Amino acid sequence: MSGLELRNIVKNFGSVEVIRDVSLEVKDGEFVAFVGPSGCGKSTLLRLIAGLDKPTSGSIAIDGTDVTEIGAADRGLAMVFQSYALYPHMSVRENLAFGLENTKVAKAEIEARIADAARMLEIEPFLQRRPGQLSGGQRQRVAIGRAIVRRPDAFLLDEPLSNLDAELRVSMRAELAALHARLKATMIYVTHDQVEAMTLANRIVVLRGGRIEQVGTPLELYNKPANRFVAGFIGAPH
Ligand code: ADP
Ligand code: MG
Repeated sequence: MSGLELRNIVKNFGSVEVIRDVSLEVKDGEFVAFVGPSGCGKSTLLRLIAGLDKPTSGSIAIDGTDVTEIGAADRGLAMVFQSYALYPHMSVRENLAFGLENTKVAKAEIEARIADAARMLEIEPFLQRRPGQLSGGQRQRVAIGRAIVRRPDAFLLDEPLSNLDAELRVSMRAELAALHARLKATMIYVTHDQVEAMTLANRIVVLRGGRIEQVGTPLELYNKPANRFVAGFIGAPH
């Protein structure tokens, strides 16, 4: 199968079961949103997909290959964090190049990718600046740029816009949609903002207490919520 497959994923922290038997398939190129209240396990699930953490049980496959035991660096995925996670002592250019420099990617190719991402995200004027000299929106663009230059098969985004003000969030939403259309890569997008999920995603996964409550297109969830929780979360009539 091409795409991502989670099978019976369980994650415990100590005696607390945080992810409870989650199974899910994400097709190549899909934009999937994970939504649910704070603490329901969205970030944990994303970290498991990224390979930043290992499931207690269950398996993860990418394009039919079991990657459960494979580290984050070798999964062909790139994660974008809410906190940007940029290196403050490096320039924007250095932040973008970081992680590519000690790989097989040639220097000229790294430069070309940086130029391409900088153009796409309109951060060319800031390449020599440090993150501390940028606005929140500019920093988030750099964080997204750092994922883009890796040319990943999938982007894992954990509430990437939640630190931005409302107006910027709306314009960045449109940029993310355009980016998805252009890159045609898989995007898994964590948000607690149902409007963001409804406008961006091909499919929405509603989580509650570490379980999937419902998976469907925005329209399916709106028209046929499985229960009052989903309806309430999506803002559908119930
Ligand atoms: P969300 O992203 O949906 O807000 P998280 O995945 O961050 O939720 O957290 C889910 C639950 O797991 C929470 O109860 C949180 O406290 C707990 N949790 C997350 N990471 C850890 C950890 N490293 N150690 C212990 N508990 C954790
Ligand atoms: Mg989270």
